[in-house]
Amino acid sequence: MSEVRKKYDLIIAGAGLAGLSLLWQIRQAGFVDLQFLLIDQDEKRSNDRTWCFWEDQPGPFEHLVYRRWDHVRVTSSSGEVLTIPLRSYQYKMIRGIDLYTFMNDQIQADPQTTRLHASVQTVDPMDGAVRIQTDGGDFIGETLFDSTHRMPLSDPNAIHLLQHFLGYVIRTSEPVFDPSSPELMNFQVPDSGDCRFIYILPLSETEALVEYTLFTEALLSKEAYEAGLTSWIQTHLGSTDYQILEREFGVIPMSDEPVEEFPFSNVIRIGTAGGYTNPATGYTFRTTQKRIAQLIAHYTTTGEWKPDAPLREPRFNFYASALLGVLNQRRIPAAKVFWELYRRNPIDRIFRFLDGESNLQEEIRIMRSSPYLPFTAAGVKVLTNRIRRYLA
Ligand SMILES: Cc1cc2nc3c(=O)[nH]c(=O)nc-3n(C[C@H](O)[C@H](O)[C@H](O)COP(=O)(O)OP(=O)(O)OC[C@H]3O[C@@H](n4cnc5c(N)ncnc54)[C@H](O)[C@@H]3O)c2cc1C
Repeated sequence: MSEVRKKYDLIIAGAGLAGLSLLWQIRQAGFVDLQFLLIDQDEKRSNDRTWCFWEDQPGPFEHLVYRRWDHVRVTSSSGEVLTIPLRSYQYKMIRGIDLYTFMNDQIQADPQTTRLHASVQTVDPMDGAVRIQTDGGDFIGETLFDSTHRMPLSDPNAIHLLQHFLGYVIRTSEPVFDPSSPELMNFQVPDSGDCRFIYILPLSETEALVEYTLFTEALLSKEAYEAGLTSWIQTHLGSTDYQILEREFGVIPMSDEPVEEFPFSNVIRIGTAGGYTNPATGYTFRTTQKRIAQLIAHYTTTGEWKPDAPLREPRFNFYASALLGVLNQRRIPAAKVFWELYRRNPIDRIFRFLDGESNLQEEIRIMRSSPYLPFTAAGVKVLTNRIRRYLA
């Protein structure tokens, strides 16, 4: 261990979505006496991802919203289209680069925050503090917010899928996109027995981010993503004349392995590391904003960071595990599961359910709209896994 360089009130490890959201919300809340250290191994200067999420009110990064839509679409494997008005919600899009640039500018003008370009190596809890070792030196913080911890994804009694996708921002020579509604799931892809679909974020009539997305256990080869994506574009857009402006590749864990959000008394895991990613959908953005707001509100009133409310009520973890189980066991085509969900439920019920904000009556309605036998079988398996984990 090298000599400790400096002590900080708060150290934030990872300047991605969760780290930057925490810093922004904390600075908005005041905290004028605290000194912050923000550490990342990357300079965050590229547009490495696009965040979309639904919201029924303005969020903390409202000013960065690049596109917003009042409708979404879902297309079945046979080409039937549902165009869904979002009622009180909007589907919003924020580009990674816009958030990184905005926060870089904020940090440069903020004398309370030090930014360190370094790789985190170890985190050692101490009495009333935490020591963090990096290749740029060692630091002590009263509290550490860590979004760099990698989920082990090794629990044999958990379901581990990956959401993986390759996307192109393309520009076509003809107007082929409907800019009024993104397509959450288009199942017009060759049937391969697993869950795969196309996701489209239209930016104009001639420009869109089109993604070939899979929820499966293993990644594909680079060529297989490219083939799936280009074949869909050529078959379904009626325009083979297009330019690729940007590429986006991503892998998001979809796992019901339990996550330790508060592993030690002065360490709080945030973002995907803290379990903010919805295991059944991969969506993380909105939970990140919500949970961070809860942490700050709790600290402001009690001086403690750990709120009384869990990240998700346990029953929502169970629902997510059951859906993961249905996808994993492939007893019914994923296209049918999602098509029935969107066809038979109002969208605000679905959004509240996925956000863990629905009531029992709404949840029963969602369950009644889902294929009964596959979900019952998956639910039994989830319970068996939990008993095994408890006994292990
Ligand atoms: C391409 C892509 C698109 C996505 N789109 C959506 C979406 O549309 N909607 C949605 O809700 N979610 C989406 N997600 C999921 C999720 O919102 C993102 O992964 C989100 O960035 C997670 O935030 P985070 O802070 O946990 O992780 P990150 O944003 O990845 O931040 C972690 C940071 O830690 C740094 N780091 C890691 N290890 C170390 C180390 N040892 N030392 C120093 N620094 C380290 C990394 O450089 C990174 O900057 C997407 C994910 C990807 C990959």
